[in-house]
Order: sequence, then structure tokens, then C-alpha cells
Amino acid sequence: MTKSVAAAPTLDVETIRKDFPVLHQRVNGHPLVYLDNAATSQKPVQVLEAISAYYRGDNANVHRGIHELSRRATEGYEGARKRMARFLGVQDPAEIVWTRGTTEGINLVASSWGGANLKEGDEILLSVMEHHSNLVPWQIVAERTGARIRYLEIDEEGRLELDALDTLLTDRTRMVSLTQMSNALGTINPIGRIAERVHAAGALLMVDGAQGAAHGEVDLPALGADFYACSGHKMCGPTGIGLLWARRELLEAMPPYQGGGEMIRFVERDHSTFADIPHKFEAGTPNIAGAIGMAAAADYLEGVGPDRILAHEQALVRYAMERLAEIPEVRVYGPKDPSERAGVLSFTMGDAHPHDISTILDTEGVAVRAGHHCAQLVMKRYEVAATARASFYLYNTRDEVDRLIDGLATVQSIFG
Ligand code: PMP
Repeated sequence: MTKSVAAAPTLDVETIRKDFPVLHQRVNGHPLVYLDNAATSQKPVQVLEAISAYYRGDNANVHRGIHELSRRATEGYEGARKRMARFLGVQDPAEIVWTRGTTEGINLVASSWGGANLKEGDEILLSVMEHHSNLVPWQIVAERTGARIRYLEIDEEGRLELDALDTLLTDRTRMVSLTQMSNALGTINPIGRIAERVHAAGALLMVDGAQGAAHGEVDLPALGADFYACSGHKMCGPTGIGLLWARRELLEAMPPYQGGGEMIRFVERDHSTFADIPHKFEAGTPNIAGAIGMAAAADYLEGVGPDRILAHEQALVRYAMERLAEIPEVRVYGPKDPSERAGVLSFTMGDAHPHDISTILDTEGVAVRAGHHCAQLVMKRYEVAATARASFYLYNTRDEVDRLIDGLATVQSIFG
């Protein structure tokens, strides 16, 4: 993902919006303005049709059956894996493991890699910017193994304090796990530069791509990560599907994460042998329709152009920041420079509780999120209990930013 892609051509948002049926409805008597994309994105008809076509025409279990429908289901499922590999610049589709989402991908690495490789005194380096799903799995494995967790802090503008890397990376550091893009602040992290330093220290780098994969081009070989996890539902795909990528050697050396059907070669009374990667990590009947839907989302995003999407979001954020500056009580969190962030805007407004802000905006048909955004360490860093968060995607418009600002004027009038 590049940081500033302001030179990319603009999107034809009106045409894009026609692909998203859910956007065309009224909520509380107003046309819906959906600004909760960091929580989950909406799905275009192309994705809905791919899922429906699979269930209508091809539904069967994968890998096991020697009949036509099972062959087609397997082709769809494995074809989707190849599609996601191509989307992320990965040559070998066996390096793509299907998961339920980013959370499961990180748990898989923490449990399988961490359980096998971490010991007492080893260090895991995280940042206070992380989503809980990139904190709690590491806390669990640290507890199990005696490893210790250390933290990179963030500055006033929500950027990682990278100068501290020199002291935080030690010969005990085994794993560094960081987000590509913050869901609470919008910050895009310079993963490439960080990867060089992590590798020079002899550690591995896991990247939480839940937001990153949805909001700009990702070329995994160029990114420099060792592990990468992302979710279908953040990038116009369905819920309940995501993927984990790692280099073949790493995945082959890791023990299975869960046991069951599909992941074995032979089962004896007292032991089993396991399938090759990636199936070794895919126990049980997988989310076949989800994988097919995620691949259709990749087709869709690539058709629009991931960098054009990021440029569109940055333009909306720039405009929203200008408009929010008109309201003196508003405090925006995260980088001041829109080119250092993607389409997430967290803010507070005087004494108005973020939940009240969100409730009032909802009465005007504007959907934003309020709370800690599963990033309680970020809230602690800025000494707030919660923020309101407006998050943009490819189908949002400047008019919708104006609707957000109009709604905040209502909040202002109610709270004085
Ligand atoms: N990391 C980040 C930065 C996220 O925004 C999210 C989703 N809010 C996650 C991890 C977890 O993703 P999922 O719930 O899809 O597993």
C-alpha cells in the first residue's frame, strides 16, 4: 500500500453506488448515509450473485466427493484461493490459508507458531494502536509460554514512535505484530521500513491487514511481512471468511492449529499424519461460499482499482477534516495529514458522549460507530472512554460528508 496516491484518477462513484443495493434505502425517514465501513463494508451485486450462483448451481462439499457438484465446489473453492493469491501478489496459492477472518488468522499464528517457537524470556513486540484481535491472542500465548509482551507507543497524531524500535528490538524479540492500518485512528503504518528493522534484529513480522487489504493495493512480497491476515467482510466480501498468508517454509514448519476432517492424511488409533499446506490448517467443512464471495470481491476491487479507492478515501477525509474544523468542539484523532491515513475519522465533540452523537446521527439516517472500536489501548493513550468514528469507502460521496456535518450541527444544538 502506498501512502499518498493523490495522483490516481477519480472514481465514478455514482456508477459504483448502483452496484450496492443496500445503500438505496431510507433510514429514519432519510436516505441512508453509511459511514461504518471500518466495522464492515457493504457488498456489491457481483459478490451477492457469485454466492447465490454457487448455492443455486454447485453446492456440495469440497475435496471428498467424486461427483460433478463436488468437483465444481472444489474448483470454486480452490479457484478462489488462486484468485486471492493473485490479488495479494502471491505466486504460490498453497501459501494462502482460508480462515474465518483476521482474528482467526492471528490466533492461528499465535497458537501454532507461538506455541511451537516461544519460550520463557522471549519477547513479542506489539503497539498500543492494535485492535484487540492483535493483542489478546499474543497475551494468551505469552501466558502459556512465559514470553513477554512489549509495546511501541504512538505520538499525539497517532503515529507509531518508530525511534524506539532500536531499543525495543532486542536479541530476545521473536515476533513483531503490527497493523497495516489503524481501525481507530486511520493511520497507515510504514510496514516496509519496519520490516527491514525487524528482520535485521532476527525477528519475524506479522501484519494485521484487516483494514489494509480493503483500502489500497497490497503486494505481499514487496510489503516485507512474514505473516499477513485479512478479512473478506472489510473488502466488499462476505462475513465469516478471511485468509492468512505466510511463506511456504514457515507454514510447513508449523503444527496444525485445529484437528478434524480435511486436514489429515492418515488417521490411526493413537496418532495421525497431516495433509500438506494449506489444508493442514483447514480442519472441517470450510466456508466454500465465503471463499467464492471473497474472490468475487477481489475481482470487484481490482476492477475499480485499489489505489484509486485509497485516493478517493483520502480526498473524502481531507474534505471531512476541513468541514469538521468548522465545529470548534470537535477533536479529531490520528494524523493531521490525510495522506498518512485512509478513510477513518475518529472524533469527540465537547461533552457529547460518542454514543449520543451516534444515536442522534442515526435519527438523520447517518450510520457511524461509537465506542472503543476494539482498541482500548488507543482510548487510554488519549484518555477518552470512546470516540465517534466515521469511516469511508469507495461508494461514499462529499454530499454524505455534508450530511454528517449537518447531523453534527443537530448534536451541537441539542448539547448547546
Ligand atoms: N484488526 C483490525 C485493524 C480491524 O479493524 C479488525 C476488524 N474491526 C480486526 C483486526 C478483526 O477483524 P475480524 O473481526 O474480521 O476478524
